[in-house]
Amino acid sequence: MIDFSIPQELTALGERVRQFVIDEIIPYERDPRLTQHGPNDELRQELVELARKQGLLTPQASPRFGGKGISHIEQSVIYEAAGWSTLGPVAMNCAAPDEGNMFLLDKLTTDEQAEVFLKPVLDGRFRSVFAMTEPGGAGSDPSQLLTEARRDGDSYVINGRKWLITGANGAGTWIIMANVVDDGNRSGPTLFLAKGDDPGIVIERVMNSMDRNYVEGHGVVVFDDLRVPAANVLGEVGEAMRYAQMRLAPARLTHAMRWLGAASRAQHIALEHAKTRTAFGSPIIDHQGVGFMLADNEIALTQCRLAIWYTAWVLDQGQKGRHESSISKAFVSEELFKVVDRCIQVMGGIGVTDETPIEMIFRDIRGFRLYDGPTEVHKYAIIRRMNHVGSTAARVPGSDTV
Ligand SMILES: Cc1cc2nc3c(=O)[nH]c(=O)nc-3n(C[C@H](O)[C@H](O)[C@H](O)COP(=O)(O)OP(=O)(O)OC[C@H]3O[C@@H](n4cnc5c(N)ncnc54)[C@H](O)[C@@H]3O)c2cc1C
Repeated sequence: MIDFSIPQELTALGERVRQFVIDEIIPYERDPRLTQHGPNDELRQELVELARKQGLLTPQASPRFGGKGISHIEQSVIYEAAGWSTLGPVAMNCAAPDEGNMFLLDKLTTDEQAEVFLKPVLDGRFRSVFAMTEPGGAGSDPSQLLTEARRDGDSYVINGRKWLITGANGAGTWIIMANVVDDGNRSGPTLFLAKGDDPGIVIERVMNSMDRNYVEGHGVVVFDDLRVPAANVLGEVGEAMRYAQMRLAPARLTHAMRWLGAASRAQHIALEHAKTRTAFGSPIIDHQGVGFMLADNEIALTQCRLAIWYTAWVLDQGQKGRHESSISKAFVSEELFKVVDRCIQVMGGIGVTDETPIEMIFRDIRGFRLYDGPTEVHKYAIIRRMNHVGSTAARVPGSDTV
């Protein structure tokens, strides 16, 4: 049974979130603490307090930590509403990378680990990072991992260099992917937990990037004889790739949800502009060239929402949804980028200025085609699967046979 009805309470919550973002968060989009390296931590904390006051902080917290444990479908509605401003998810503590990290930590931490590394992130005190990508090493292909962890008594000693690590500067909780190389039968890519103030974590610099809505930007980091107790292994030694996939399927979908909100706002602004701006004797919306761009946007936004909701439904059925989330991520990231690009075109010259938030959304959304799997890598995975099990196009929906 396919059912697209959204319960009234969920719609009401989505509307409350959207109004909160409009009334309380959008004014901060011109705050000087929103720097070239993203919102700084002082701004983040101020926003977090606003969400806390409204009872909207960390809506995804699981019952294990006193939350409601919202479903993926519920997330779709709430995160889209939060994404109306790129700062909305920051305020509500459901932005990347923390949201995906909290999901993974919730699944894998022991109670002792959760106390130190997860609880402060859930309540908005700490930020967290996921450190995988390396210059010359792990990237699209994580098996190229270079960072190493060597066993020394009751500890592991980690050495390596990472880049593009979102939020590295000042983060309290670290999830580090490193290759265990010399621990008998226990070896291979492993996730480790570490505290941000450990002197073995050296922030080399924060990179200058075209986006500016990830808190504290993206860092280049060196692990210089970083010593972590063996008790800080997250899950099992050698299982990092499996855990990363566990994190990624939902995490890439929540990116899609938030960016859908941002792209929808761009469309809203472009539509209002097209109704009032005139050229050659009529509002520009009446020129088919402009009207068609806005119509193409409406089609794309609707199709993206359906792709997200379908994948959310698959995840809510308890399935891994790896293939579906790959398809949705590749589709949504490419389509939303085109939507925002067309919005700039509709706006004319002011579209490339900061007179409206569209240019900021455009710069910020570009990275989405790269992180959590670049489009080409998702297509590579999709074609490999099709080569193995055939195309879903050749199946009766619901059947497992080609
Ligand atoms: C804004 C942003 C935030 C990020 N935050 C984090 C973070 O917090 N933590 C972290 O660990 N990483 C982070 N990353 C890094 C991100 O995960 C990587 O950029 C991504 O995995 C791609 O790796 P790469 O940059 O090394 O590109 P490469 O792997 O070098 O890829 C380069 C190009 O080759 C293409 N390519 C690769 N393989 C194939 C293939 N099989 N077929 C066709 N084309 C292929 C890719 O699609 C891409 O176009 C972030 C990146 C960005 C842009």
